[in-house]
Amino acid sequence: MKPIRLFACLLLFSTLALPQHKSQHTPHKKTAKKASASHPQANSALAIHQSALIIDTHADTPQRFLDENFDLGQNTPVSEGHIDLDKIKKGNLGAEFFSIWVEPEFKGQYSKRAMDLIDSVYQQAARHPDKMTMAFSADDIVRAQQEHKFAALMGIEGGHAIENDLRLLRDFYRVGVRYMTLTWSNTNEWADSSGDIQNPNVKHHNGMTDFGKDVVREMNRLGMIVDISHVSDATFYQALLISQAPVIASHSSSRELTNAPRNMTDDMLRAMTNNGGVVMVNFYSAFIDENYRKASYDPEKTKVRDAEVEAFKKEHAHPDGSPVSYNEYAFIEKRWAAQFPRPPLKSLIDHIDHVAQVAGIDHVGLGSDFDGVTSLPEGIDSTADLPKITQALLHRGYTREQIQKILGGNFLRAMREVEATAKRLQTERKASDSLSFEDIELMVGNRVGATLLVDRIVQHGVNFPLTPGLRDRLKSEFKSEKDAEQVLDAIAKAKRK
Ligand SMILES: [Zn+2]
Repeated sequence: MKPIRLFACLLLFSTLALPQHKSQHTPHKKTAKKASASHPQANSALAIHQSALIIDTHADTPQRFLDENFDLGQNTPVSEGHIDLDKIKKGNLGAEFFSIWVEPEFKGQYSKRAMDLIDSVYQQAARHPDKMTMAFSADDIVRAQQEHKFAALMGIEGGHAIENDLRLLRDFYRVGVRYMTLTWSNTNEWADSSGDIQNPNVKHHNGMTDFGKDVVREMNRLGMIVDISHVSDATFYQALLISQAPVIASHSSSRELTNAPRNMTDDMLRAMTNNGGVVMVNFYSAFIDENYRKASYDPEKTKVRDAEVEAFKKEHAHPDGSPVSYNEYAFIEKRWAAQFPRPPLKSLIDHIDHVAQVAGIDHVGLGSDFDGVTSLPEGIDSTADLPKITQALLHRGYTREQIQKILGGNFLRAMREVEATAKRLQTERKASDSLSFEDIELMVGNRVGATLLVDRIVQHGVNFPLTPGLRDRLKSEFKSEKDAEQVLDAIAKAKRK
């Protein structure tokens, strides 16, 4: 890790020298002078920013839509919200992934909560058809930009939302969800989270269960992006091994710079390069600034805050028994966070820079976590301030082309690859039409779970008769007798083609 720091420092020195260097070698002095009436740097930063397709991959605004009846057409003070249509326009934000964050407190009604949040995003698009549109693909995002409309997309935050059911996963894809974080801060029944990995009272799985791996496979086949933000390190590496398409971190920063467990180590960043994925840097002060993190995670102080939150929840319990949502007590968290000085904008840019150096310029992007965090770096109060990031990157010596990759180009490329992989997986299966005995054996060997296997068998049929010999052979390859019976039963009943 040390040599990388040194390397980064050297690079930093060389990039700091860059702007000066550039002006010395400006090839068209006359045109440069003409264009630069007052601030040449600012002018070109603005030009780059305004011409870019800017995609932010994580904002928690849907809770505001649903729980506060907030409308994007309202101009809200930044103390209340980071996103509205006016701020979107000022920041030239082209597309936002609205987070369908299902609080673990909603146990027993995860999918209902998710569907309510999904509906709230559609409602916003329906209310502002002249300014925004729903989008479901990379092409949709580009088309929206051409029509000068803001594109709204959706990603589920917390794999527990699918209630351990691949059918629900498919339903979420059908209603437009295009990524899912395998976990939120809570370990679910099939994947470990970084949020509770140290908690001995939580049942962990050493990463993912076989069903968890099936979830990743089915997401690949559907074209839903696998999002590894929030997951434990073991879950991360397993997801990368299984996934046939690039994965993303929709809102994660660097652990080398800021030691939060849900940030990504340099080794993870390099693994993302090999995978072709993209790491979208989270703007939250405690994820981008070590001083802020240390101050705000002081256990004695957080105890006081947590007690206040618990007292509020008790006092404001809903008569129908539904849980008090985060949004209702967010003011306590915000007030508490405000006691710590905001980190400088430089901290955020350092993280973008670090991911660009370690993972590569093609693997970094923006995942603000707007409307989901209680503190942002100085100067970044809302989406309206996004141009400041472009300006800061330009000052560090990033080129126009590189900046446009960071602002959205990289994510768009990864989304296209996910779409292409899904298309390939779906046609490959169609081409071979029905499953051979070897196909099924291979899936058993790859530890594809019984549910997914049965799914595939019902969908595609088989091209072989289940002789007693084949039956015994397959049975011996299963660990669980119950799974074997389930699959053999499906083969016996399947269409023969
Ligand atoms: Zn999150």
